[in-house]
Amino acid sequence: MPAELWTKSNLHLHAEEISAAAVELEKAHPLDIVRWAAERVGTSITVTCSFEDAVLAHVAAEAVPGIEIVMIDTQYVFAETHWLANELKNNNGINLRVVNPLNVTPDNLWQRDTEACCNVRKVQPLNALLEDNVGWVTGVRRVDGPTRAETPVLSFDAARSVLKVNPLALYSDEEMESYEYLYELPRNPLKDRGYPSIGCWPCTKPVAPGEDKRAGRWAGQEKTECGLHV
Ligand code: SF4
Repeated sequence: MPAELWTKSNLHLHAEEISAAAVELEKAHPLDIVRWAAERVGTSITVTCSFEDAVLAHVAAEAVPGIEIVMIDTQYVFAETHWLANELKNNNGINLRVVNPLNVTPDNLWQRDTEACCNVRKVQPLNALLEDNVGWVTGVRRVDGPTRAETPVLSFDAARSVLKVNPLALYSDEEMESYEYLYELPRNPLKDRGYPSIGCWPCTKPVAPGEDKRAGRWAGQEKTECGLHV
């Protein structure tokens, strides 16, 4: 544990330590990875959660009771995803915070320009959130797809000046299911209706058995990422 907490202004001095810890903690339990980060940044840590499943929220709240768990409400979140977030808030006691895009009303941007829509509804609210935090916990996993295959459990995001924490980076789909089962967590109903990956309703389609699990995200477009993790 460091003598002084890491801050936005001194975080860059710890970049090598973060890289070394990413190797050392690669096989650590997700709880220990979140705790390692929280010991270094104190309460200046936030979790962004898609609520595709309950695992990340549960891991974070077990590791750091009361930790803020954020849903970025793009205005196009599935009702089932809202349901799961509220279940975890009401029955599991997570400290849920809903963040809305600034100065945006529902429109048809997703039909015309998905990059711009994701930017205003996801990336900008995230960047504003991270201006106030040194640590950022995410649910990114290597099995999500080729662009995420090298995801470390810890990294220094120099552009946002944050310690990025990916405690589930090495978890397989089977391990996610086992975790849900072990802790009897509520489940996003869409998971059992052909949606292995869940984003906004206009840009998420169900996939056929055996199909790439992110094939339903922005189907028919080149786009594979919303911009939060690039
Ligand atoms: S996923 Fe679709 S609806 Fe959601 S912010 Fe991106 S473009 Fe807009």
